[in-house]
Amino acid sequence: MKYVIIGSGVAGIAAIEAIRSVDAAGDVIMVGDDPYGYYSRPGLAYYLTGELHDKALFPRTADDYRKMKFRFVKGRVKNILREQHVLELDGQASLSYDRLLIAVGAQAMPLEVPGANLDGVLKLDHMEDAKRILKHARRGKTAVVVGGGITALELVEGLVTRGVKVHYLLRGDRYWSNVLDEHESKIVEHRLQEEGVTLHHHAEVIEVTGKSNRVTGVRMLDGKTLKCDLVACAIGIRPRVELAKQAGLAIDRGILVNEYLQTNDPDIFAAGDVAQVYDPLTGRSSLDSLWGPARQQGYAAGLNMAGKKTAYIKEAPFNVTRLAGLTTTIIGTVGRGLDKDVIGIARGDSETWRQLPNSVVAQTGFDVNHVRLLVGEKKLLGAIVMGDQKLSFPLQKIVTENVDISPIRERLLAPNAKIGDVIAEFWTTRK
Ligand SMILES: Cc1cc2nc3c(=O)[nH]c(=O)nc-3n(C[C@H](O)[C@H](O)[C@H](O)COP(=O)(O)OP(=O)(O)OC[C@H]3O[C@@H](n4cnc5c(N)ncnc54)[C@H](O)[C@@H]3O)c2cc1C
Repeated sequence: MKYVIIGSGVAGIAAIEAIRSVDAAGDVIMVGDDPYGYYSRPGLAYYLTGELHDKALFPRTADDYRKMKFRFVKGRVKNILREQHVLELDGQASLSYDRLLIAVGAQAMPLEVPGANLDGVLKLDHMEDAKRILKHARRGKTAVVVGGGITALELVEGLVTRGVKVHYLLRGDRYWSNVLDEHESKIVEHRLQEEGVTLHHHAEVIEVTGKSNRVTGVRMLDGKTLKCDLVACAIGIRPRVELAKQAGLAIDRGILVNEYLQTNDPDIFAAGDVAQVYDPLTGRSSLDSLWGPARQQGYAAGLNMAGKKTAYIKEAPFNVTRLAGLTTTIIGTVGRGLDKDVIGIARGDSETWRQLPNSVVAQTGFDVNHVRLLVGEKKLLGAIVMGDQKLSFPLQKIVTENVDISPIRERLLAPNAKIGDVIAEFWTTRK
């Protein structure tokens, strides 16, 4: 059996591990166009702030790869010829496959305004982008950051730590309005202001101005202008569906796959940020842009490719991240609606976070140590934990394992409930 994997991200690597756990002899080939290969993309944020050296982002050694027994082809796949089971590569010989995995991830949405192609308009998709940002930060004094979600703040934080003065422009009236509530947005915005970031609400860039191909500033919808040396954008991402589309595979927002990660072609699978995965429990097909689900999907896809039929059952998505320096865990469904600063989905985001069914809110803490719970009839549907993370592990377990919270529901919803104590006690007795 000949397995080919397109994409050297976490989904692709997990697929190889799974294939090897079933088929020790098959021929496995990975094709990837990122010159840096496999590394932690979430870690790029810490590379930008200088907390991690770039070497720390590479979790595998050459020896690890040797043990996985696969051939790496550095290159870009430009066409899938399904009838012939062949891949066409840019400037290289074609490759045949028996089973194919498309794990090509997602890419940043471009800023579509005049001047967006000037040198100094930046995004953060991969290592090369991070290095470009650092290069510009070294020579730039002032930056404008546009967009929302986690990556926009990572850009802000990275630039601030490098001594760049940052203007953060939000099209809406508050940060990440479809995941955070008003109070949580305020906590984040207040911290940004304390770091010296200038926030501009209802601010929309309509032009990036420049001289000799270099950024000199931005012009906004209300006619105001800001001088800056670079513009960093995180306005959402788009799954890379082009290969699948050209091959006639079923796509929607991402490549449509069933719970076995299989496309409408039984020999082609998709996993990770590019896949829009069917969840048999909810009947929905949704996108995640999260490291954990990408790894799990890649692994399940690999097992299925090697003939070990295994359904990928989506868990309540969660992310532990940092928002303006504040550790924040987001679990399950916590928000709804649209965020004017993000088109579709952002990095480190899940569509599931916004599929909120009926629930009641319980919250505690009005400073940096804040907890908000979405309480359903019998289950906790979601939670946000900011600051002190003592509750994040029990809450993650309670939400993902659909634990019956009937014994504590009333206490959680009582006025001035000591939510932390109630959850901690419930968790300890349960254990
Ligand atoms: C800055 C940043 C911050 C993030 N923060 C978080 C976070 O806080 N929490 C979290 O859980 N997740 C976070 N993520 C998201 C997480 O990293 C992704 O969900 C995960 O990396 C997706 O893995 P993947 O294998 O699907 O795709 P990717 O890692 O994107 O890998 C796809 C690979 O395919 C290659 N490729 C594309 N097209 C072709 C082609 N035609 N031929 C050959 N190769 C091709 C690409 O170059 C790339 O190397 C973040 C990502 C970034 C970039």
